[in-house]
Amino acid sequence: MTDFEDMLSEDDSALASSFDHAPLRLTVDLGAMADNWRDMAKRSGKARAAAVVKADAYGLGIEDAGQTFYRAGARDFFVATVSEGVTLRPYVPQARIFVLSGVWPGQEADVIGSDLVPVLASEEQLSHWTAVCAQGGEHPCALQVDTGFNRLGLTVDDALYLADDPCRPASFDPVLVLSHLACGDTPSAAMNRVQLESFQKVAAAYEGVESSLSASAGIFLGPEYHFDLTRPGIALYGGEAVNDAPNPMRPVATAEARIVMIREAGEGQTVSYGGTYQLKRASRLAIAAVGYADGYQRSLSGSGIPLREMGRGGAYGFVNGHKVPVAGRVTMDLTIFDVTDVPANAVRAGDYIELFGRNVPLDEVARSAGTIGYELLTSMGLRYERLVLEQA
Ligand SMILES: *Cc1c(COP(=O)(O)O)cnc(C)c1O
Repeated sequence: MTDFEDMLSEDDSALASSFDHAPLRLTVDLGAMADNWRDMAKRSGKARAAAVVKADAYGLGIEDAGQTFYRAGARDFFVATVSEGVTLRPYVPQARIFVLSGVWPGQEADVIGSDLVPVLASEEQLSHWTAVCAQGGEHPCALQVDTGFNRLGLTVDDALYLADDPCRPASFDPVLVLSHLACGDTPSAAMNRVQLESFQKVAAAYEGVESSLSASAGIFLGPEYHFDLTRPGIALYGGEAVNDAPNPMRPVATAEARIVMIREAGEGQTVSYGGTYQLKRASRLAIAAVGYADGYQRSLSGSGIPLREMGRGGAYGFVNGHKVPVAGRVTMDLTIFDVTDVPANAVRAGDYIELFGRNVPLDEVARSAGTIGYELLTSMGLRYERLVLEQA
């Protein structure tokens, strides 16, 4: 019997769900997500831990993530945009939702309707929002201060001036002041302390207003960095927050691609576009249903891309207990894995190759592509069939 006949008879006997036969699939473990939030809340010590759920909860689903963190105890959420906040609101009824990129004129009704808290980050946003409140009545806001990142936020000087400004509009009454670390993932970076000291001045000037400095990485820098509220994101989703340190978080996402076919290829033959990967021996190749259109980036290729010429290895997958390297270039819909070292009876068409998850750490794959776990998670595309494991 061929592998495919085998699969047909399996389908007869079992009630196969679309997940069971999907060419590309993603499992999201909400129990692990909840555990990761509780872990970050504990590491935040006296501070409250929020949950950052921007970009569809780092690609894993804002509805499920929002509910999961809310049930675990989170009452403060951060999104990037107003529309993300509107999507989130029904899942976290009593929570505060902060919008990190602020509000554009025209979005006021959504902000007020979904009770979102804009994080004001520039003079323009500040004057727009105070004008809105002067007309339409009080609505909470937060203030972002730039302590060295040079991204969003008022300068420290402007923020200090505003704190004591007698002409400050009565409608400007922030519920939170926040800043963001540039080098939180590198505990030895001198910049962390410089930003900490600047932010301490800001927090002191806004006495009585809650303050927040740290994302996932900053939480690991210790209690001085915690202030009143921490803002973990990547750690909740199992990603690495701190460089060159063991990752204590539970993996949340497992991505798997199905092997469409297995082929034999002779010594000296080449694999994939450009013929850049030459086989040094007679090989067995597994052709898997994932490509760069699914966020399995071309820079993960085993050869034929600039990163490989710099001497870094390509990515590997995991199948039935074996690590299998990517052979040649990743293509749009398909990736070729070298399964020569896997016993022939231990890998066949229809099996799934893990791309990242329990056996292949997300951040190890990311490093092969010269990127970070954040980018892999947020670029998975639309073709994954998803299975959400509910909390026990
Ligand atoms: C994305 C973001 C976070 C969360 O960062 P992680 O590194 O994922 O924990 C926190 N604060 C701000 C301002 C952000 O933009």
